[in-house]
Amino acid sequence: LSDRLSGIFDGLTRRGALSDKDVGTALREVRRALIEADVALEVVRQFTEAVREKAVGAEVVKSVTPGQMVVKIVHDELVAMLGEEAEPVSLNAPSPVCIMMVGLQGSGKTTTTGKLSLRLREKQNKKVLMASLDVRRPAAQEQLRQLGEQTGVETLPIVEGQSPVQIANRAMQAAKLGGFDVVMLDTAGRTHIDEPLMAEMAEIRDAADPHEILLVADSLTGQDAVNLAESFNKRVGVTGIVLTRIDGDGRGGAALSMRAVTGKPIKLMGTGEKMDALEDFHPKRIADRILGMGDIVSLVEKASETIDAEQAEAMAKKMQKGLFDLDDLSQQLGQMANMGGMGGLMGMMPGMKKMKQAIDGAGIDDSVFKKQQAIISSMTRHERKNPKVLNASRKKRIAAGSGSSVQQVNQLLKMHRQMADMMKAMSGKKGKGMMGKMAA
Ligand code: GDP
Ligand code: MG
Repeated sequence: LSDRLSGIFDGLTRRGALSDKDVGTALREVRRALIEADVALEVVRQFTEAVREKAVGAEVVKSVTPGQMVVKIVHDELVAMLGEEAEPVSLNAPSPVCIMMVGLQGSGKTTTTGKLSLRLREKQNKKVLMASLDVRRPAAQEQLRQLGEQTGVETLPIVEGQSPVQIANRAMQAAKLGGFDVVMLDTAGRTHIDEPLMAEMAEIRDAADPHEILLVADSLTGQDAVNLAESFNKRVGVTGIVLTRIDGDGRGGAALSMRAVTGKPIKLMGTGEKMDALEDFHPKRIADRILGMGDIVSLVEKASETIDAEQAEAMAKKMQKGLFDLDDLSQQLGQMANMGGMGGLMGMMPGMKKMKQAIDGAGIDDSVFKKQQAIISSMTRHERKNPKVLNASRKKRIAAGSGSSVQQVNQLLKMHRQMADMMKAMSGKKGKGMMGKMAA
């Protein structure tokens, strides 16, 4: 897939704004990737149309091909749609807070009930009571009891012959009396969606009045995801989604489908069978996966980090000679500003990662890069090539010319010195591989 994509993108090297044709060509490949990831067809269509509107006319970042630019836009849009920020399970209700798990048989409801209970206790110090309302499968209640034993989370004692609603009522009662903070209701599933299941879920919901109703779904769910999410949401009402078996090789298209049809956040993801294998949902990780298990992703990353090969080569040569002047720094700053501080040569270099982290950590944003560029552009050509000549009076002149302070000029020079030193060090033995990579 990656070859196919790069092949197409290589053909599109014109700079400027994205044309209809650029976007159309790239989106055809993106659409194929989404379908391969099992995103529901109607969602693929909606999504690509939305992206088309955004992409046409968008400015192509310098040194990136239009096709790569489209992929970057698609990726960002995918992350935005999946939910930029992780939404936690809400406990913002009077105790005991009821959380009801729903979903098909085998989707991971019981396992996730155990995982989430453990997490609420360990991380949020909550007193949790778990109850299995699955009276259909003979061993279901016993399965949850054993998970409770394993994790040390209390389970509601099993009483034979009770209906799911009776068990739910008993659980809420026991939680009130026992001073529990949270009640987790694990329900029964079926192999497919049917009316009796929906009716049972609605009845339990009416009895227990859950604060959260989490739809648990296997990340391998394919085209059924839309029907699944829509049915549960319409009939029972869903407050969030849990995506299980992220550790498997499903492409995760179900996440996008379910999110698109319900508008409900994906809150958690199951990453294994063990009780600690539960994580906050990472939209970026899933977006990467949906787009093609790293293929397109690396392309996207490259898109924001690519610089012209020539430029890289010239830079690498200079660095090998230990030359890295303020013009080069200015170019780097420009790239970092263009790409939100994430891109550019610096980001591609192992040794620079730390410095970049330090810069990011210090809360330096684009405006700082632009300011630093302004300082450099207030220097004469001679000064930029030979920063050593910068004495106090020259610094004063440069500060005044760029609307900054002498201190800021000094900071910039210090940063340049550190980078130049680091580059000199890297162009030694250790840096060989990297140099090769950059020049390639
Ligand atoms: P339920 O019928 O919805 O209650 O599903 P279960 O919780 O009983 O899970 C069915 C099977 O899936 C069990 O063997 C679980 O160990 C397994 N399972 C659940 N969640 C995950 C997960 O995130 N990753 C993996 N690998 N297996 C899981
Ligand atoms: Mg179960």
